[in-house]
Amino acid sequence: MEKSGNPPPYAPPYGGAPQYGGPQPGFQPPPPGPPHHEPQQTVIVTHTVSQVPVGPSPTSTTCPSCHAQIITSVETETTTKTHLFALLLCLFGCWPCCCIPYCMDSCQAKTHYCPNCRAYIGKFDN
Ligand SMILES: [Zn+2]
Repeated sequence: MEKSGNPPPYAPPYGGAPQYGGPQPGFQPPPPGPPHHEPQQTVIVTHTVSQVPVGPSPTSTTCPSCHAQIITSVETETTTKTHLFALLLCLFGCWPCCCIPYCMDSCQAKTHYCPNCRAYIGKFDN
């Protein structure tokens, strides 16, 4: 009877001490730069496009682009909030519910467009 003895524990040859890049040079923190006082040339163009206050449903308004009396066409848009709601539902274990925010209109933003010229009219984000 031959006993299958355990192989001797194999110690891998030590590859020498890890080499350091010599003594560390005197570490100097980066000097605080001189305060920049550049004249700010930011021209803030507050060109507020006459945004029509829109609701979640198609609104009768005058298109700012083609000036036609239109009823806006609404496109539903998933927002960060939609994803957030879905994530929350997932976290609370409501797995089957996590797609509900994508079906719920109230969780999505409504972008209104002009049906004539496809101009952006406004956005309703509840
Ligand atoms: Zn238009």
